[in-house]
Amino acid sequence: MKYVFFFGKTKTEGGAEAKNLLGGKGANLAEMAKIGLPVPPGFTISTKACIEFLKERKFPEGLWQEIEENIRVLEKETGKKFGDPENPLLVSVRSGAPVSMPGMMDTILNLGLNEKTVSGMIKLTDNPRFVFDAYRRLIQMFGSVVLGIKGEKFGTVLKDFKIKKDVKLDTELTAGDWGEICERFKKIIKEETGKEFPQEPYLQLRTAIQAVFDSWNNKRAIDYRNFNKIPHHLGTAVNVVAMVFGNLGFDSGTGVAFTRDPATGEKRLYGEYLLNAQGEDVVAGIRTPQKIEKLKEELPNAYNELLKISETLEKHYRDVQDIEFTIEKGKLWMLQTRTAKRTPQAAVRMAVDLVKEGLIDKQQALLRIEAKDLEKILHPTIDPQAKVEVIARGLNASPGAASGLVCFDADLVEDWVENGKDVILVRPETDPDDVHGMMRAKGILTQHGGATSHAAVVARGLGKPCVAGCESIEIDLSVPKFRAGEVEVRQGDEITINGTTGEVILGRVPMVEPKITDELTELLSWADEIRKLGVLTNADNPQDATKALNYGAEGIGLCRTEHMFFEKGRREVVVKMIMENDEAERQKYLDRLLPLQRKDFEEIFEVMKGKPVIIRLIDPPMHEFLPRKEMLIEEVAKLRCQGKEKEAEEKEKILKIVENLWEINPMLGLRGCRTGITFPQISAMQVRAIFEAACNVTKKGVKVFPKVMIPLVCDVAELKVERTRLEEIAKKVMEEKGIKIDYRFGTMIELPRAALTANEIAEVAQFFSFGTNDLTQTTFGISRDDAEGKFLLKYIEKGILKENPFQVLDRKGVGKLMKAAVVLGKKINPDLEVGICGEHGGEPSSIEFCYQLGLDYVSCSPFRVPVARLAAAQAVLKNPET
Ligand code: PEP
Ligand code: MG
Repeated sequence: MKYVFFFGKTKTEGGAEAKNLLGGKGANLAEMAKIGLPVPPGFTISTKACIEFLKERKFPEGLWQEIEENIRVLEKETGKKFGDPENPLLVSVRSGAPVSMPGMMDTILNLGLNEKTVSGMIKLTDNPRFVFDAYRRLIQMFGSVVLGIKGEKFGTVLKDFKIKKDVKLDTELTAGDWGEICERFKKIIKEETGKEFPQEPYLQLRTAIQAVFDSWNNKRAIDYRNFNKIPHHLGTAVNVVAMVFGNLGFDSGTGVAFTRDPATGEKRLYGEYLLNAQGEDVVAGIRTPQKIEKLKEELPNAYNELLKISETLEKHYRDVQDIEFTIEKGKLWMLQTRTAKRTPQAAVRMAVDLVKEGLIDKQQALLRIEAKDLEKILHPTIDPQAKVEVIARGLNASPGAASGLVCFDADLVEDWVENGKDVILVRPETDPDDVHGMMRAKGILTQHGGATSHAAVVARGLGKPCVAGCESIEIDLSVPKFRAGEVEVRQGDEITINGTTGEVILGRVPMVEPKITDELTELLSWADEIRKLGVLTNADNPQDATKALNYGAEGIGLCRTEHMFFEKGRREVVVKMIMENDEAERQKYLDRLLPLQRKDFEEIFEVMKGKPVIIRLIDPPMHEFLPRKEMLIEEVAKLRCQGKEKEAEEKEKILKIVENLWEINPMLGLRGCRTGITFPQISAMQVRAIFEAACNVTKKGVKVFPKVMIPLVCDVAELKVERTRLEEIAKKVMEEKGIKIDYRFGTMIELPRAALTANEIAEVAQFFSFGTNDLTQTTFGISRDDAEGKFLLKYIEKGILKENPFQVLDRKGVGKLMKAAVVLGKKINPDLEVGICGEHGGEPSSIEFCYQLGLDYVSCSPFRVPVARLAAAQAVLKNPET
């Protein structure tokens, strides 16, 4: 077994492809050495050695001999000798895992320094200040990393020393000062461990390597891996590299740079550096680093070489790099390169530019972008520079960020917004009563409810940020106020919510506005060339439909018609219609609603210009349109107390109706097609409105393609009844208008029974659309309204469920039902069109699954249309067999 791999002029073993064995840093150092870039020579001890070491906390057989042999090669290449007082070789020992874990593990610099080599170094450099500074850094790092002495022990000595000397900066300390500090640091080591600081360089090296191996299992590294889902078995490699010094004077320095701007993607070297400094000085922020452009003036040769190398690296890796470098007496050395982290905006621009520069092809560009990140581009985001005070965390239910005044009442939101204020609606949970406020608020915060709760679905449809299920706040509507830990927030106080992360922040914070850039438009056009899934949108009004069209939607996959009932001026009519027992009277109210719905549909058809519009007939339980029971009871009691008998009686009538409609499990109650079957006049009015609108718009010369969708079917018999009855109405309208409309009748598959009997349903339905919100709810038997903010989060924290099934489609269970439905349905009707319109239709992994199932389209909220276009293309590229 070979454990150690050399890189340098003598030989280079391994390269970028060996990341798992050599860690990211080691693999890339070897790669840079291989392509002739100036890398200080060294060797990498593999992750395998680390894994072996951690088993019994001892070096595996042969490892130490290999290390000694490699030190000898290093000595030969550098012309220096490890521990030689005349010409000492000094090395750094750095961790480097296969997956980047910045700052999580340990590093020790200047190994090989001791009392004797210090003298040699002083002779060689003629710079005692530098040498003593290097020596104290070694003692300090060795003390804390290898010997486990608290870092602040050294820090305090240094601080007190500076106070005594009356200086502020490290740079003001003299050689003598540093020499004295070295002595004090050594004393700390003696006091803390009972032993002297080890003088033997090989002992320093051996214990340092062990300490870096051990740091794989320090608490912060474990926590980091848990948080970032990095496996614990990978181990870290250890890089032993000849030291180069950035602190040898003002012709030396150290810095970090990105080969392109990681925030915008602009093609320019972006970074900072410090002259006369070592790496940790830049990170520690003791001195303010200079912008990289300034290096052009200060050390032009090194700057020009850095530019050249950054180009070479990009060409070689075919991606933007994040590099670390040191300049020693004017000579540039590369210490690290890795793929640069970038904002979603920058990722898009970089990918498109790299295609144009011929470094990657379009397919590679499409795979480079995290599809779900595109959603972030289209929403205002919190300025990453801003300092924020996070007071609570909930579900990241709808992305983007917004600041505004806290308001607990939807009507009041309307007033405040009319007066030019920005408002955040805060509710225990939202219901249709709040929609007018939600439409006007900048963002929505709820204490209860999950990612498919009313608040979340409506907010996503509106493209507004929403933090839902924020159980760590406590709302008291009687004041009104909410409490988040120690902080009390009252109506009118300012907060910011970040729907992308789920954070609630005190006060207003600066935002960055979204842009659809030319690069994004171009990238998505490449996605469209490849993808096979259609991308439709969930939109209930012409504004959302227009937005979605701009983002590239090819039709409407779900128009939730009940949302049209919530608008001001309509609601009252809807309430009266529901409360009316007499059929003829009820029809009068429906007759008033008909022209309003017709107008909605006309507007939508006009915007969609012949693209398919799937209109779902009324779905939620009727009582959702009525006032709340508790509120009515309170009002009746109040009126009685005030002696207003007549008014009390009126209210009581309403209460009776609400009580009659009240269900313990409304989500499993009178909703979906059951409503249409129980109150046939309602869906009759809706179908009439749809076809009258379609005829009217056709008459204007605009093409239309309506598709009527019946929700929550569990048996084909329901669909038969409804389709027969409603299609007759459609035909009648077309006859009246003298126009023939091309239309379809279909159904949602959102109950397990519907999926399992899809062969029967396919005899009657012309299309299926998976309502995976309800299908997930009914397959898991977990309430979509209650569970997400509560036990479901615990399930995910505990790893009982890997993902929230309301966000990421559950392939094993829900997916199996979907597959059965597709197979059964297509067997009966090979031309059956099948899509999805649950929230999963905008989630990349779910979209990939839909592609594997052979679905025809996905439908999602307007802001997720670009995500879906890209994810659909990625699905094709990742599944060449499908
Ligand atoms: C669904 O259940 O997935 C769906 C789209 O319908 P809704 O969310 O309106 O119940
Ligand atoms: Mg549903």
